[in-house]
Amino acid sequence: MAQLIDGKQLSNQVLQEVASEVERLKAEHDVEPTLAVVLVGEDPASQVYVRNKVKRAKEAGMGSIEHRLGTETTQGDLNQLIERLNHDPRVHGILVQLPLPSHLDEEEVIAAINPAKDVDGFHPLNVGALAAGQASLVPCTPQGCMIMLRQVHPDLSGKHAVVVGRSNIVGKPMAALLLQANCTVTIAHSRTQDIESLCRNADIVVAAAGRRELVDADWIKPGATVIDVGINAIEVEGKRKLVGDVAFEAVAEKAGAITPVPGGVGPMTIACLLLNTTRAARHQLA
Ligand code: NAD
Repeated sequence: MAQLIDGKQLSNQVLQEVASEVERLKAEHDVEPTLAVVLVGEDPASQVYVRNKVKRAKEAGMGSIEHRLGTETTQGDLNQLIERLNHDPRVHGILVQLPLPSHLDEEEVIAAINPAKDVDGFHPLNVGALAAGQASLVPCTPQGCMIMLRQVHPDLSGKHAVVVGRSNIVGKPMAALLLQANCTVTIAHSRTQDIESLCRNADIVVAAAGRRELVDADWIKPGATVIDVGINAIEVEGKRKLVGDVAFEAVAEKAGAITPVPGGVGPMTIACLLLNTTRAARHQLA
């Protein structure tokens, strides 16, 4: 049976470090690291994510400012708000919850955020810095996955990692971080042929496709480490349940280590968001 990489426990450790850094910034610099969260529209999943982020920020002793805007918000209004937050010295991190309603241009919004306050790490400047190995604000989900991987592999050098998924928020930055850690990296996606045999050769599989239980036990090399990023809501006997991109029960029999869903990558993502906010606050001291 695989070792369980417990995201809840590990995220609590990260959140404790965050809380200590918040205390230091307050005591030594009279700065309260503050995260501004912008939510546009009524998407129920986004509302839950925003609520959790704000709750955790408060628990870590950080400041938080919520801006909830109606679905009819225009691009101009949103850009103006971001401009205001960019120039507000009390705000150290800005997060615009995605996805935005379809009439709004996500790329334009992300590019409008001051890169020094871009705690999601999605601004093109931060994306470029990550590709060049110079990043300071790294996307939260892959950052959390790396902390989990280091629990099992303090040295990742020479490991073969397959990342399933190539999105800008998970797959691509994940691959960049693994490469920086000296892994040999393969990126698989919806057009990849014979993903199964690619995965069967991997020491590490990171599943981020958003396809329920896509990765099965016969994709996995015995003893491999499996990180499940996927969050898929299903109904079982009338009850809503979350499952990952990995067939957990079967894969856990074969893998060396595995993350659960829920209680895996999800809590790590929020912890890394707050870590990024304290980093941004410290950088802004100078
Ligand atoms: P996305 O839809 O933007 O990208 C999915 C990627 O998977 C695409 O690159 C696509 O090519 C690939 N893909 C789709 N079907 C595939 C298949 N059958 N085989 C191989 N590749 C396939 O999704 P995303 O935003 O990257 O998120 C991926 C999953 O991770 C989703 O379930 C999402 O909910 C979850 N997620 C979780 C967290 C977290 O904190 N745990 C954070 C972000 C995303």
